[in-house]
Amino acid sequence: MTDARRQIPRTDMLLADPRLVAAAERIGYQLVKTAVAAAQQAARDGTIAPESIVDTVVRSLPERATSLRPVVNATGILVHTNLGRAPLSSAAIEAIVGAAGVTDVEFDLGAGQRARRGRSAVEALADAVPTAEAAHVVNNNAAALLLVALALAGDGREIVISRGELVEIGDGFRIPELLASTGAVLREVGATNRTRLADYADVIGENTAFILKVHPSNFIVSGFTREVGVRELAGLGVPVVADIGSGLLKPHPLLPDEPDATTSLAEGATLVTASGDKLLGGPQAGLMLGKTELVERLRRHPAARALRVDKLTLAALEATLRGPLPPVRAMLATPTRDLLARAEKIAAELRNAGIAATSVESEAAVGGGGAPGVRLPSAAVSLPPEYAAKLRKTSRPIVGRTERNQCLLDLFAVDPEQDADLVRAVREAG
Ligand SMILES: *Cc1c(COP(=O)(O)O)cnc(C)c1O
Repeated sequence: MTDARRQIPRTDMLLADPRLVAAAERIGYQLVKTAVAAAQQAARDGTIAPESIVDTVVRSLPERATSLRPVVNATGILVHTNLGRAPLSSAAIEAIVGAAGVTDVEFDLGAGQRARRGRSAVEALADAVPTAEAAHVVNNNAAALLLVALALAGDGREIVISRGELVEIGDGFRIPELLASTGAVLREVGATNRTRLADYADVIGENTAFILKVHPSNFIVSGFTREVGVRELAGLGVPVVADIGSGLLKPHPLLPDEPDATTSLAEGATLVTASGDKLLGGPQAGLMLGKTELVERLRRHPAARALRVDKLTLAALEATLRGPLPPVRAMLATPTRDLLARAEKIAAELRNAGIAATSVESEAAVGGGGAPGVRLPSAAVSLPPEYAAKLRKTSRPIVGRTERNQCLLDLFAVDPEQDADLVRAVREAG
């Protein structure tokens, strides 16, 4: 054994170092032990000095016991599924922390007995949509569609849907296949670009469970097109389920073509389904709003138990609905001149640090979460292209977008409070 190897402290001695004891309390013993073993090996290899093992371990330890990292979304895509969709408001984050321990999610503290699970979140949802009689929440919009198909058509009855609305949501998942997996029969009507009321009327019969109207939230069909709205479909005398996708509860002035729950129900939809983590700006959830009788039937269906949301989701959803404007909504409302001013300030700070940064006008988009084709005026910091990869590897990873051989950091989906992180990360990468 060489001298250097003999000097390497034993694992139990290293783990007794107060800094590592504290780290183990924070992130768990196993992660610390693995980092100690790696540092001991580095010392054996001669890449670090034996006396710097503890320092090396402390520096290499993750901040948290999860490997999911906070990332800055500088892609210009507001609702980015790969980056976890909507960032939560601080009110929603606090609500999650509050509910994380033991909580009264399903308990009435006044009466001292069991209560309806998540009742306050469900009430907040129903309150936000005045045209809804009742509401229910499941894991995501796909789960909402699954539940309604199972409950109304799982016995082999028909779901009538336009051929223009057979949507692939993403990652290979398709709504028609999801529905068919329940045992329901899909009755496709119309053509890809055009469907008329008569196309629906022609196939409706005894075996019809409901008409499904799916919002094409991630593509647009333009040119010679025609579709049938909820109001006309509601006149056909069978239930109409409207999957509005993005979770707008009321009309949004910037997104006039995006359907919303209040209007769809006013137009006669029996049930509306939507996601919680797109334009609503909340946690992943499937929102179901509509007539009391149907909502109760869905809530009582055996499969509802398998699609049940957890207490953290309910807490965050209620805070999103009752609390301050969530980030996604605030970002949508940011004036372009504010974005340009931020881009100019960041670019100037970076130029002072010797980095070739400029501020440029840019175009952002809502993303797969809704409003396809809508271009949102935005502003970005332009950097040389090699920054794109480097910025993803900084201590606060930044995901930008590469366009015309530049790395663009689009500010549309960046919280202004993250501007300083952005400057720091670019300097670290530079
Ligand atoms: C996003 C989307 C879905 C899927 O919603 P999840 O909450 O991701 O399950 C379904 N339908 C439409 C129209 C969508 O836009």
